[in-house]
Amino acid sequence: MTRALVGTAALRLESVTKTYGSGESAVTALREVSIGLDRGTFTAVMGPSGSGKSTFLHCAAGLDQPTSGSVRLGDVELSGMKEAALTAVRRERVGFVFQAYNLMSALTVEENVALVPRLSGRDLDRAWLRELLDRVGMLDRADRRPSQLSGGQQQRVAIARALVNRPEVVMADEPTGALDTRTGRQVLDLFRRLVVDLGQTVLMVTHDPVAASYADSVVFLADGRIAGQLHHPTAAQVSDRMTHLGEA
Ligand code: ADP
Repeated sequence: MTRALVGTAALRLESVTKTYGSGESAVTALREVSIGLDRGTFTAVMGPSGSGKSTFLHCAAGLDQPTSGSVRLGDVELSGMKEAALTAVRRERVGFVFQAYNLMSALTVEENVALVPRLSGRDLDRAWLRELLDRVGMLDRADRRPSQLSGGQQQRVAIARALVNRPEVVMADEPTGALDTRTGRQVLDLFRRLVVDLGQTVLMVTHDPVAASYADSVVFLADGRIAGQLHHPTAAQVSDRMTHLGEA
């Protein structure tokens, strides 16, 4: 069966097109986008406002269905899945990190992270949970509530939460958008370490060239198409490419 031939890609999009609406009001947000992310890599997605970044992330995460094309997370084909199955895939195979942390204010740090396996009906692997809290530097604050933490600390808890189910891909949407520069850099360093040490695959949407320079590669979107890719980019290279995308 072909699934055995998929190889090491954690995520593969093939000719993904997404059109919202129909007739004269139709907007095509993604046009024939094809890309594969190898396991254990860190990829940033950049592009001007309206270029399709959110749509790309939503289709990749099974939050939205493409109009045509195929999305595979590991060995699971998402296109054609019913909503209930997609919900299960998101819980089991995707970790989400948002700009606004989105922690549950009534729960402690540890309870926030433990909630994810609980929602998927899994037994809690307490040793793994504590290892993750240690890796993100929050083990000594496991009993605190989010309101007792700084923004950077809350984001580190959100990252532990995103990893606890050992997802195929962690999808981060502007994860440093609400943080000051120094704290943002610490979060990006943490992502890098999780990629290197744990082999986690990370996909991050950002508008910040410095944030993108922490990734192994940067994918540029313009008008719903992949308009280029940079490997091991510097912030200056990313910035330069973004300027030229704007001109296009
Ligand atoms: P970005 O994240 O790069 O700003 P988006 O993926 O949000 O881009 O949007 C790409 C295009 O698709 C834009 O033209 C946007 O207006 C349109 N779009 C996004 N979501 C919807 C929606 N739910 N309904 C209609 N149009 C949408």
